[in-house]
Amino acid sequence: MAVFDFDIGILGGGSGGLTVAAGAAQLGARTILIEKERELGGDCLHFGCVPSKTLIRTAHVYHLMKNAGKYGLPVVDVPPVHYPGVVKRIKSVIDTIQKHDSTDRFCRLGARVEFGRPEFVDEHTVRLNGNTHSARNWVIATGSSPDIPPVEGLEKTPYITNREIFYLEELPASMITLGGGPIAIEMAQAFSRLGTRVQVIQRGDQILAKEDKDMADQVMSVLNAEGVDFHLKAEVVSARDLGDLREVVIRKGSETVSLRAEVILVAAGRTANLDGLGLQRIGVEHDRQGLKLDERLRTNVKHIYGAGDVTGRYLFTHAAGYEGGIVVSNAIFRLPRKVNYTFLPWCTYTDPELASIGMNEGMAGAAGIKYAVWSEDFRANDRSLAEGEEIGKIKMILDEKERPLGVQILGPKAGDLIAEWVAVLNGGVRLATLASAVHPYPTLGEINKRVAGDFFAGKIFSDTVRKGLKFFFSLKGRACEVEERP
Ligand SMILES: Cc1cc2nc3c(=O)[nH]c(=O)nc-3n(C[C@H](O)[C@H](O)[C@H](O)COP(=O)(O)OP(=O)(O)OC[C@H]3O[C@@H](n4cnc5c(N)ncnc54)[C@H](O)[C@@H]3O)c2cc1C
Repeated sequence: MAVFDFDIGILGGGSGGLTVAAGAAQLGARTILIEKERELGGDCLHFGCVPSKTLIRTAHVYHLMKNAGKYGLPVVDVPPVHYPGVVKRIKSVIDTIQKHDSTDRFCRLGARVEFGRPEFVDEHTVRLNGNTHSARNWVIATGSSPDIPPVEGLEKTPYITNREIFYLEELPASMITLGGGPIAIEMAQAFSRLGTRVQVIQRGDQILAKEDKDMADQVMSVLNAEGVDFHLKAEVVSARDLGDLREVVIRKGSETVSLRAEVILVAAGRTANLDGLGLQRIGVEHDRQGLKLDERLRTNVKHIYGAGDVTGRYLFTHAAGYEGGIVVSNAIFRLPRKVNYTFLPWCTYTDPELASIGMNEGMAGAAGIKYAVWSEDFRANDRSLAEGEEIGKIKMILDEKERPLGVQILGPKAGDLIAEWVAVLNGGVRLATLASAVHPYPTLGEINKRVAGDFFAGKIFSDTVRKGLKFFFSLKGRACEVEERP
C-alpha cells in the first residue's frame, strides 16, 4: 500500500478549506492546509462577508442619523463621512475574527498550516516552496475571484473590485457598479447611504437576477428612493480613464449613454481560482466556473475533492462550510454522502434584506411545477410598524399537494427570519405545527407563523366548517352585521 505524508491535504484556507481542516484534524487525520496569502480566512473574512456586513452596519447607522426625524427625534445636520474611520472599524472586526482563523488555532487542532503557491506534480503530490507533500486525499478549496468582463478599454481604466473597496483611502464622491448582483447591490446601497452618488449598470431587466422579479423590483425601488440610479437592459460598450473621472459608455436599446464617476466597481460575477494548480498535468477536469464534481464532491480523479466557490454552485460561506462537511464524511469517514442543496438558504443584505430558501416562483415555473403562493406583508406585523421597518413581505410557495417548495422574505432581518424555515423545511416540520406554535409578541418572527396560519385560515373558517358546527352544536351565528352604506 502506498505511503503518504498526510491523510488529507487542503489547498485554500478560506471558509471551505478551514472547515475540512478543522474537521479532519479533530478526527485524527494527519492534515496539511496550504494557503497562498499570508493569513487564513479567505475572501469571506478579508474581502467579502465580514467587511461588507461591517460596512453595511456603519452605513445603516449613518442612515438612521440622517433620518432621525422619522423616529420623532430632533432632525440633525450630520457631518460627512470620514472613510478612514469606517475602514478602521472594518479592520478591527476582521482582526477580532482573524483570531478564530489563526495558524495557532489550527495547529492546536492538529493541522499543519503552510503558506505559499502549491502545484500538483502528480495525483497525490503537491510541490510547495521547493518541497513536496503527498496526501492520500486532496481538497481544492481555493475560492473565486471577480470576473472581469471583456469591455473595450477596461483593462487600461482604473477600477476596483471587492478586494479594494473596503480599504479605500477616502469615500468616492461617485461610483458606477458594473453588475447588479448581490455584491453590487449591497455595496450600492451602503455607499449611497454614506454619501457616494451611485449608478448601477445591469444587463438584464431586473437586479438580483436569481430572485423573483417582484421582490428584486421592491429592493430596487427602495434603493432608487434613497438616490441610487439604475440602468437596466444596458450593455457596457467601453470604459475610459478621463483623469479625475472614469467614463463608462452603455447602450440601452438604440440609445448610447456616457456615464462618469470617480470609481468603477466591477462586480459582474465570479471565476473559480484554479489557475497555477497544475490541474491539467494531473487531468482534473474543470472550466472557468469551477471543477467538474460528482454529488460526493469528487473530481474525475476520485481522491481529489472540491469545496466552496470552486464548485461553481452556491457561492456562499455557509455553502462552503456545508460542502467541507460532505468532503470530510467522504474522505475521512469513508461514508458516502451526497450534497443536497434543496433547502440551502441565502440572503442579500440590503435594507430591507432579501432571504430565500428552496424554490421561488421563477424556479418552480422553470421546472414546470404547478404552485400556489401565500404571502403576508410586513406592514401587518406590529413589530415592523414599531421599528419603522414596514417595507416587504414573505412569500410561501406550495406545490399542488400543498407541500412547501420554498420561502422568500423581503424585510427587516430577513436573513435571521429565514432560519426558522431552515428548521421547518430541512426537518420536515408540518405547516400546522408552525402555524400553531406560539411565537413571542411582538416580534418580526410572527410573520412566519402568520403566513403558515393564513394557509389554514381559509380551511378552518370556511362555510362548510361553520355549517357543521351550527348543525352539531346549535351555534347561533353572527351577532353583528356591518351596514352597507349607499
Ligand atoms: C463582497 C462579498 C460579500 C460576500 N458576502 C457574503 C455573505 O454575506 N454571506 C455569504 O455566505 N457569502 C458571502 N460572500 C461569498 C463568500 O465570501 C464565499 O462564498 C466564500 O468565501 C467561499 O469560500 P471558499 O472557501 O470557497 O473561498 P475563500 O473563502 O475565498 O477561500 C479560498 C482561499 O484559497 C486561497 N487560495 C486561492 N488560490 C490559492 C492557491 N493557488 N493556493 C493556495 N491557496 C489559494 C485564497 O487566498 C483563500 O484564502 C461574499 C463575497 C463577496 C466577494
